[in-house]
Amino acid sequence: MVENEENKIIEKENEALNKIQEEQEEAKEKIGEWIPKTRLGKMVKEGKIGSIEQIFLNGYKILEPEIVDFFIPDLKIDFIRLGLSIGKYRRPKIVKMVRRKTAEGDKPSWVALAVVGNGNGYVGVGLGKSYDIPLAMQKAVRKAKLNIIPVGRGCGAWECACGNPHSVPFKVRGKVGSVEVVFIPAPLGTGLVAPDEIKKLLVLAGIKDVWMQSFGQTRRRINFIRAAFLALKQTMEYGIKQDYVRLSGLRFGFIQ
Ligand SMILES: [Zn+2]
Repeated sequence: MVENEENKIIEKENEALNKIQEEQEEAKEKIGEWIPKTRLGKMVKEGKIGSIEQIFLNGYKILEPEIVDFFIPDLKIDFIRLGLSIGKYRRPKIVKMVRRKTAEGDKPSWVALAVVGNGNGYVGVGLGKSYDIPLAMQKAVRKAKLNIIPVGRGCGAWECACGNPHSVPFKVRGKVGSVEVVFIPAPLGTGLVAPDEIKKLLVLAGIKDVWMQSFGQTRRRINFIRAAFLALKQTMEYGIKQDYVRLSGLRFGFIQ
């Protein structure tokens, strides 16, 4: 019985995932028909903003996801597995159930955590919540797009010093609740020494080599991923000296 219900949830997740991927494919073709609702959106459509870099350099806030689709047509979407199914076969699940007390009693609701990125300096994470599984997943993607950030990449590993942007430019840390994530620059060829769900974030950010340390309750997966995201954000929030930029090969955002 439980097994059946769990299979239904996973089936729903897969259906939603396929639909979301299809819609993202279509978003590329439909971007011409986009009618912007925000001032920034209008500026983008009118060609007054030439690249997504300009949005961040000017400190504008992205309030409609189409802006991201406009500048990053090859955006990829992934989901963090938030749990395991109950029953004999423990299969990874995208959504996690959260019970909420309402006037009518306990009503189950779902959360999903999406990661979006171009594999080249832009990554976003978003949490979606709904009474409906596909809707929670769609909301998560939308939020992840709105939360997209440029990531600073470089070669911060003294053992390597190749000057190419294959790792993080320096040690960065992010903390959410009791969970702390630290990314340490690693030499070329090290790969991503991190748990699989964190790797999804690093791959979509375009980081090839890194070491990771973590502290606290990393089983709290939402906080774990958020802490990793905050750490990546730190690659941009640094008073960076010009000669450091030159020496480490630090570059931010999209690299051609
Ligand atoms: Zn290097």
